[in-house]
Amino acid sequence: MCGIPVGVDHGHVVDVDNRALMCVCRACFMLFTWEEGVGRYRAVPGRYLHDPRRPLASADWRRLGIPVGSAFFLRGESGVTAFYPSPAGATECLLDLRAWAELTEQHPLLKAAMPEVEAVLIRETPGGVECYLVPIDACYRLAGTVRMYWKGFDGGQEAHERIEEFFADVRSRSRPFDPPEG
Ligand SMILES: [Zn+2]
Ligand SMILES: [Zn+2]
Repeated sequence: MCGIPVGVDHGHVVDVDNRALMCVCRACFMLFTWEEGVGRYRAVPGRYLHDPRRPLASADWRRLGIPVGSAFFLRGESGVTAFYPSPAGATECLLDLRAWAELTEQHPLLKAAMPEVEAVLIRETPGGVECYLVPIDACYRLAGTVRMYWKGFDGGQEAHERIEEFFADVRSRSRPFDPPEG
């Protein structure tokens, strides 16, 4: 952003107008962290959360009407949008907004994401539904993994291994969510 080359370990800032992610140096990251939640450029926070006390059921997930097994939900100025990772990248999909609104009443984690910079990531597995609040760059990392490794109709073994690695990483970073009281 300022022209200083960034290292391997660097922060990201979202350009809200273009829904684009930019790699930034430490100083730029700090600058946009101070102006939390306002303005065109917003620093992507580093927190990963899950809510072990209020797990989602498979029936909850199916009510959202998402045609695939995993999706992420991003809150912007015009409401919530659902995307799923596909071989073509992050793809927008239709979301049952009423079902979403009802679900957020019982699952406060779903509305704890900061607009534009954090997302709720949900996937259904044979063992149940996983649900995380993650930085938006994690979702782009997942979408990039799927785009790079997915082959054929079912994705192939390597894609599935990479996706499992991704979720194992998210799981290990996640801390329990403490909803604000009241
Ligand atoms: Zn970067
Ligand atoms: Zn900079």
